[in-house]
Amino acid sequence: MLDVRDLQVAYGAANALWGVSLTLQRGELLCVVGPNGAGKTTLIGALAGMLRARGGRIVFDGQDITQRPAHRFCEAGIALVPEGRRLFTGMTVQENLELGSLLPQAKALRRQTMAQVLDLFPALKEKLASPAGELSGGQQQMVAIARALMARPRLLLLDEPSLGLSPRIVGDMFAAIRRINADGVSVLLVEQNVAMAMEVSQRAYVLEEGRIVAEGLPHELLARPEIQRVYLGV
Ligand code: ATP
Repeated sequence: MLDVRDLQVAYGAANALWGVSLTLQRGELLCVVGPNGAGKTTLIGALAGMLRARGGRIVFDGQDITQRPAHRFCEAGIALVPEGRRLFTGMTVQENLELGSLLPQAKALRRQTMAQVLDLFPALKEKLASPAGELSGGQQQMVAIARALMARPRLLLLDEPSLGLSPRIVGDMFAAIRRINADGVSVLLVEQNVAMAMEVSQRAYVLEEGRIVAEGLPHELLARPEIQRVYLGV
């Protein structure tokens, strides 16, 4: 479904991704893990069309979307849950969700999709009229994910959904991500929370200093001594 070949992204003269290649099969829940500054947000930004690739290509459902602007990525069926959630905090939860479904196909199905996301996150039902900024961190993350789903994406990109959340809430969040995937949405997750990301994912890539250094099944990667040493503090 997604084929990323030799992707290079730079900030001015500073390269952040040095030829990243990865694939995602339809229906997959894939994670890219790596330390702070590895280039995870840069990768997600390029896959959402927010950052221009300096080299390489991004093919989604057979179409080369590398040079398209961000709204064309959205039209193609890719939605982003950005790091730090980026909600419109002064607007209500309902308004935030509606902003996720501005494109015609999504807008036509708005009522139905709204019911689906509220079924996924029932806690948001009684918060629809509240300003998003008044919600707890966990609820705000739910709104951010729900807003992305309102676009009815085929591929959901999640940038560090666990950031700043308590362990219990993180567990709930990953359970919801699993359910979204089981409902037919392909998911690409980038995370510093390696243990949790590996637990929910079907396959994983390890990104370090802008390069993919390992790829495989989570349990195989977690069994490698160098992964245990660097990421699990073993
Ligand atoms: P984090 O978990 O801290 O977000 P990350 O893995 O997402 O880390 P990126 O944010 O993608 O990493 O950063 C990758 C590299 O690009 C880092 O060296 C970072 O300093 C650099 N970088 C990121 N954003 C910019 C920017 N706007 N301008 C210049 N350099 C940047």
